[in-house]
Amino acid sequence: MNYRNMQDLIRLAEKQKVKIGEIVIAVEAEQKDSPPEKVREEMVEVWRVMQASIRRGLTEENRSVSGLSGGDAKLVKKTKPRFLSRRIFKAVAMALGVAEVNAAMGKIVACPTAGSCGIVPAALTEAASRLKLSEDDVILALFTAAGIGIVCSVNASISGAEGGCQAECGVAAAMAAGALTEIAGGTSKQVGHAAALCLSNMLGLVCDPVAGLVEVPCILRNAGALMQAFLAAELALAGVESRIPVDEVIGAMDEIGKALPESLRETAQGGLANTPTGQKLSRDIPLD
Ligand code: SF4
Repeated sequence: MNYRNMQDLIRLAEKQKVKIGEIVIAVEAEQKDSPPEKVREEMVEVWRVMQASIRRGLTEENRSVSGLSGGDAKLVKKTKPRFLSRRIFKAVAMALGVAEVNAAMGKIVACPTAGSCGIVPAALTEAASRLKLSEDDVILALFTAAGIGIVCSVNASISGAEGGCQAECGVAAAMAAGALTEIAGGTSKQVGHAAALCLSNMLGLVCDPVAGLVEVPCILRNAGALMQAFLAAELALAGVESRIPVDEVIGAMDEIGKALPESLRETAQGGLANTPTGQKLSRDIPLD
């Protein structure tokens, strides 16, 4: 058994009447020649690291060496939101916090990359709390997220240097959207629609980190991408379908990534990195 795209994953899950996450576990176990229980156990450890990074992100300042980031997660955590629900704003704080921990050289899970590490943990922590999920449910959802990430990496890219930030924060958001949809009772097809709707809203997002550091705008993009994930999951669960099939959306992301100029692919030569303020921030960073 194997899969190359979302269509394969959805078809296999429907045929076997299981969740997409179960297919991803079975394929991983087969490829590693390892029992499925061991594959699950490894993901439990991944979830522990994610939880620890959220705890640190919400309780410490996590100032980076460059001085460009740190402290925003705590600021958000203590602020009463005017437009969003308290819970969603707390999830925003979590996403920011994990990304700040990364910038402060703390331990995180690259999901799919370090720059986009806050999105999936924040989405699933909020879902686990809101829907009172067991750890087993969350672990299964993490495999669903992983399956979406694997499909994107095989058919497009999960690297900002290759495909822009759509490939990092965009893919992370699609992973989270699919996992949220499945965990909330959506069908496998709805998981595909959630990923497609989410990615569609993030196509063309460039990679333009100030001074080449994964801080500005990366950390705040984790918050924006998290909101896209929640939105796409809600839309898919409401029955909204992506008119463009998910694998074609991923193909479009690949095409757009290849068309992006080098200045917008992690070289810090374009976009926000190349603004007067971006350049000044870069010059002001202490050298040691
Ligand atoms: S801007 Fe570039 S470095 Fe920053 S998170 Fe996005 S892809 Fe990663």
